[in-house]
Amino acid sequence: MKELKFLAQESNAEPQHTVTITKDKNNLTARCTCPRGGVGHICRHRISILAGNSRMVIGDNVADVKRVEDWVVWSDVGVLIARLVDAQKRLQAVKSEAEKSTAAVNEAADEVRTVQRLLVRAIND
Ligand SMILES: [Zn+2]
Repeated sequence: MKELKFLAQESNAEPQHTVTITKDKNNLTARCTCPRGGVGHICRHRISILAGNSRMVIGDNVADVKRVEDWVVWSDVGVLIARLVDAQKRLQAVKSEAEKSTAAVNEAADEVRTVQRLLVRAIND
């Protein structure tokens, strides 16, 4: 059994949490000391590290995140982490498109109101 511990923090405003990744053959477990870090929950600290992202890792073992990435690829959670990262990217893209659509709808509605105001003035003069 192999184990790696990371000190993680999403931002300076957040307290530091300890993420523990354990590899036992092809079984990988990840725990975190944050409120969403226990069994039955999922937290960003663990997902980030499992996805091979060291952005939240503080301390001197940032390079160990690469070792976790290797563990994940050969574990039971590898496919799910890859799917999650993919789904998150797709969600971000769709949200971005939705924001553009909302802006376009508002712009078109503004134009309709402006023309209606002008028309009301024109037909009443
Ligand atoms: Zn956490």
